[in-house]
Amino acid sequence: MENCIFCKIAAGQIPSKKVYEDNELLAFHDINPAAPVHFLIIPKAHIATLADCNASHEGLLGRMMALAPKLAEELGCGVKGLGAEATGGFKSLINTGPDGGQEVYHLHLHVMGGSRPWAGQR
Ligand code: AMP
Ligand code: ZN
Repeated sequence: MENCIFCKIAAGQIPSKKVYEDNELLAFHDINPAAPVHFLIIPKAHIATLADCNASHEGLLGRMMALAPKLAEELGCGVKGLGAEATGGFKSLINTGPDGGQEVYHLHLHVMGGSRPWAGQR
């Protein structure tokens, strides 16, 4: 997709601080972090918003969600312990459309974690 910043990142035309890559997905650190750990998981193929997804995207969306805790753990914000004794953890968020606060129109899953308080207050 022309003029899509995340397509350019996926194509390596714009640099990013890469966290993870496979043939379908890319994860990189957010340039303006709202938390001590803040990275984005994107499909390499251009999909503008979550609202553009249908049943054919269920596998892709599942793989994006399943990757979040794995990478959060690797970056030090996984959940440690069980129930009330648990520490750590992260927020996963997809903004969709103008009222959803979406600024970049290439589907992305925010993953934010690290000890609070967070400067970004999300
Ligand atoms: P959203 O409001 O959900 O569309 O979020 C877009 C996110 O992309 C914001 O958190 C931005 O800080 C982030 N962002 C924009 N440009 C870049 C970039 N070149 N590299 C990394 N993150 C970016
Ligand atoms: Zn794109």
